[in-house]
Amino acid sequence: MNMELTKGFVDFIDDAKLHSLINNTREDPVVYRAILKKSLSKQPLTVEETAALIAVQSPEGLHEIFETARELKRSVYGNRIVLFAPLYIGNYCINDCQYCGFRRSLRSTVRHSLSDQELVNEVRSLEDEGHKRLILVYGEHPKYTPEFIAHTVRMTYATKSGKGEIRRVNINAAPLDIEGYRTVKEAGIGTFQVFQETYHKETYAKYHPGNTQKSNYLWRLNAMDRAFEGGIDDMGIGALFGLYDWRFEVLGLVSHAIHLQTTYGVGPHTISFPRIQPANGMELDLPYRVSDQDFKKLVAILRLAVPYTGLIMTARESRAIRDEVMEFGVSQIDAGTKLEIGGYNKERKGDEQALDEEQFQIGDTRNLDEVIRWLLTRDYIPSFCTACYRVGRTGEHFMEFAIPGFIKRFCTRNALLTLAEYLEDYSSDLTKEEGYKLTERELAKMPDGDEKESLKERLKKIREQGIRDILY
Ligand code: SAM
Ligand code: SF4
Repeated sequence: MNMELTKGFVDFIDDAKLHSLINNTREDPVVYRAILKKSLSKQPLTVEETAALIAVQSPEGLHEIFETARELKRSVYGNRIVLFAPLYIGNYCINDCQYCGFRRSLRSTVRHSLSDQELVNEVRSLEDEGHKRLILVYGEHPKYTPEFIAHTVRMTYATKSGKGEIRRVNINAAPLDIEGYRTVKEAGIGTFQVFQETYHKETYAKYHPGNTQKSNYLWRLNAMDRAFEGGIDDMGIGALFGLYDWRFEVLGLVSHAIHLQTTYGVGPHTISFPRIQPANGMELDLPYRVSDQDFKKLVAILRLAVPYTGLIMTARESRAIRDEVMEFGVSQIDAGTKLEIGGYNKERKGDEQALDEEQFQIGDTRNLDEVIRWLLTRDYIPSFCTACYRVGRTGEHFMEFAIPGFIKRFCTRNALLTLAEYLEDYSSDLTKEEGYKLTERELAKMPDGDEKESLKERLKKIREQGIRDILY
């Protein structure tokens, strides 16, 4: 890693200001109602406005926040939920993050990196389940060079099984230098995710001890700035909730989003908000664990603060929490998740996990078909859509297109097309029945006209002629 590039860091997290906002902002109905009104007009919130929503504690105030978040989500994203699966490539790691089952000091972790053949087998299994979007996940290790990451991305795209193919590969890996980002970009990646873990510097130092690559807070904080320099305009940020005060982390995430938007004209494509889970050898005393109620509140506030940023809720959360929180702003979830290296080709019963090979424990162990059926019965459209990225609607362009009606016109129709592909090629009979019932309900909602007719025609091509990948 070229540490020369660590010079000239930008620190856009003002700890004193964020603490002062948390400690000195009081609930004020006049103020928070004006902010909710601003949110509904789809304008991003300032850090101060976000703090004013965080300060709301009264049941009426919280109710208003939840209802507004639900309304905003519906108006920007419609009722679709994008589905993906994580694919762990390797768990070697030189860092010592205290919360992670891959940390270097943990001798009991079974270490492995997928060979090319194992990678192909994993991708095939995921395709045979019906997945179209993956996120490849790596520990941080000299083995996992940008060239290696690019190689695994190319292998993933090149692997096809029957009608299956992976149309979008995202990455969650250690932050790279500018050249490194260029190398992975050339392999055709979608989003590059790096989570700051905690925006609070003291806490960051506590959980990332020693002189490791990861212990450099600013190197990580500026990961997305370097990504931008390296030509990647599709970035995912996140915080690991439970290390420090969730209110600080939300303000940190919003500060990060504002920094990217004002510096590069493009906000983050996604925000992730994992809550810390039990992991192999993890014996941490975590005084800042986030309650379910606060979790729901923070998701709703993030939705309101960054209307056009996708929010990802992973299978770390239980089915019950996912069920409850989704409607307040989540736009992407993973399904059929296996964290074990090579786990998509290992037979395990039900929710059994091999924690000595995995990063942490997951809460939702349902398979893809079950998750899809659950979404359908909750009136969500499960979507495997990858259209925007593939026709160039990303980054700055994506923001241009992210205007109401437009998103709905493209996304809803593309979601229904990718759902039909799933129903035809992979689903159980029960899910197929629910899927086409939902499709009928969605068609009934659309005004008559060319758009509806064209969608009907394409659905017919998928069902009757076996044509695939016909996107808007
Ligand atoms: N090694 C790279 C890094 O740290 O950036 C790649 C990402 S790591 C494999 C993926 C993410 O998992 C981390 O950024 C962290 O937020 C999260 N994670 C680690 N341990 C966790 C735990 N015990 N519970 C929940 N999430 C965890
Ligand atoms: Fe390594 Fe990432 Fe785990 Fe830290 S979170 S120990 S860097 S895999």
